Amino acid sequence: MLKLKKEKKQEFKIIGLIDKPLWKSIPCICHATVITMQYPLTDCMHCKFQECEDSIPKQKFKSNGKDVNEIKIVRGQRYQDVIGWTWHEEDDQ
Ligand SMILES: [Zn+2]
Repeated sequence: MLKLKKEKKQEFKIIGLIDKPLWKSIPCICHATVITMQYPLTDCMHCKFQECEDSIPKQKFKSNGKDVNEIKIVRGQRYQDVIGWTWHEEDDQ
């Protein structure tokens, strides 16, 4: 029987999450039903920033063959919008 190496279960950790970032107070200017008046065809900042926030990874991923279990959110100074995220690549034990 093949014995699997017991993997340390590690929760995916996101550093820098904010409950109410400033950009959330920017109103959405998109039209409810007219698609040509909705993001991304409009310059709606609210939806743009929402899209950035939604793109944050929710579970661990691999980078250069190594597991990434923790990321740190990088935010814009003005609107606290998500610009990206950073991580450290650690060697598998
Ligand atoms: Zn919008």
